[in-house]
Amino acid sequence: MLDLTLTPDQMKLQERAHAFAIDVIRPVSRHYDTTAEWPEPIFRLAWEQGFLQAAVPKSLGGPGHSQMDEVVVNEEIAWGCAGMYTAISANTLALAPLHIAGSPEQKKFWMTRLLEAPRLAAFALTEPEAGSDAGAIACTAILNRGVYLLNGTKCYVTGGAYADYFTVFAKTDPGKGARGLSALVVPRATPGLRIGASMDKMGQRASNQVTLHFEQAEVPLENRLGSEGMGFAIAMKTLDQTRAIVAAGGVGLARAAYELALEHAKTRIQFGQPIFSNQAISFLLADLATKIEASRLLTWQAAWMTDQGLRNSKQSAMAKTYATDTAMEVTTNAIQILGGLGYSRECLAEKFFRDAKLMQIYEGTNQIQRLVIAKEIQQGR
Ligand SMILES: Cc1cc2nc3c(=O)[nH]c(=O)nc-3n(C[C@H](O)[C@H](O)[C@H](O)COP(=O)(O)OP(=O)(O)OC[C@H]3O[C@@H](n4cnc5c(N)ncnc54)[C@H](O)[C@@H]3O)c2cc1C
Repeated sequence: MLDLTLTPDQMKLQERAHAFAIDVIRPVSRHYDTTAEWPEPIFRLAWEQGFLQAAVPKSLGGPGHSQMDEVVVNEEIAWGCAGMYTAISANTLALAPLHIAGSPEQKKFWMTRLLEAPRLAAFALTEPEAGSDAGAIACTAILNRGVYLLNGTKCYVTGGAYADYFTVFAKTDPGKGARGLSALVVPRATPGLRIGASMDKMGQRASNQVTLHFEQAEVPLENRLGSEGMGFAIAMKTLDQTRAIVAAGGVGLARAAYELALEHAKTRIQFGQPIFSNQAISFLLADLATKIEASRLLTWQAAWMTDQGLRNSKQSAMAKTYATDTAMEVTTNAIQILGGLGYSRECLAEKFFRDAKLMQIYEGTNQIQRLVIAKEIQQGR
């Protein structure tokens, strides 16, 4: 029987995440947006709540969040601040390749490090010449006497300036194109790894992105996840799983902007009545509310499918596209409903708008999601 109610544990988790967003994140979100400082104290508190290391399984002593748990928590964190949501959920993205292809020993070694302290891991797929076209990766990792020599550049690595280790995708067999890629875990302290300056961004300024430069960086053979040549499949499966979490971020951010606009529409008096009384405003809010609910349903469906072990390439791409396009639409219209106040830095609406744009770009642009959806429907899935 279809049942869309959260379990009692998930409801408690949702309440805890919302309280965290209200009490811890919101009071400082403008500060970190303005300064682009790294919100270290917030990460410690997120770690104490189990949100930073949520993807570490219970069998290893971690919180062991299911994908449904993750989307419930991340909607609330993104409601608080989308930049902090991106910074915190980057750990789940980086850990997904370990979940998908790591041996029990690798999982234990790398994941339990995140339980010892508020540590970060980072996911390094994108390169300057390989963004949407991930199969065009030029980084090489050539095996030489039991050690991979890693060379090349990765860019836009979220959390990279502070990460303890990286899940890196590189060509171990340069002659084989996308089928020659492998996934490697690269510790921060690896000689030959240089971390570039942090990116100065338009929005989501509480998150950090850097370029990684590898020059003859030595990575032990035992740090490879899965077999040689599995890298592209691991990366795609990772994104199938984590796009539901991006979608949840879109829902949380859209909800934050919608709530602000609704409150304003009900209290702002013009022409002797609340602006909500104008059908142009109330119907706009009705449409935005509908799209937020539809986004959440798509998000839950994609997350539920991951938890059931079902293939969800189409559903996670649909959820990511719809929810993040909705976040952009809602944040844009929220400014319109708030009028001049919405354009002012006095109000969070302009931050929500800047934060939303990134969600249409990262973890595969929404054009690329449409390519994924089109390929799936062409193949009858
Ligand atoms: C703040 C931020 C954080 C990020 N975090 C990470 C991270 O942690 N790890 C990581 O590996 N990467 C990360 N990324 C990289 C991100 O996933 C890429 O930026 C994204 O996939 C797009 O690649 P690109 O920027 O090279 O754009 P391009 O691939 O150059 O695309 C440019 C434009 O062309 C369009 N386009 C390209 N090909 C097609 C096509 N076939 N059909 C239609 N349109 C097309 C795109 O949709 C886009 O609009 C991050 C990026 C940013 C900005």
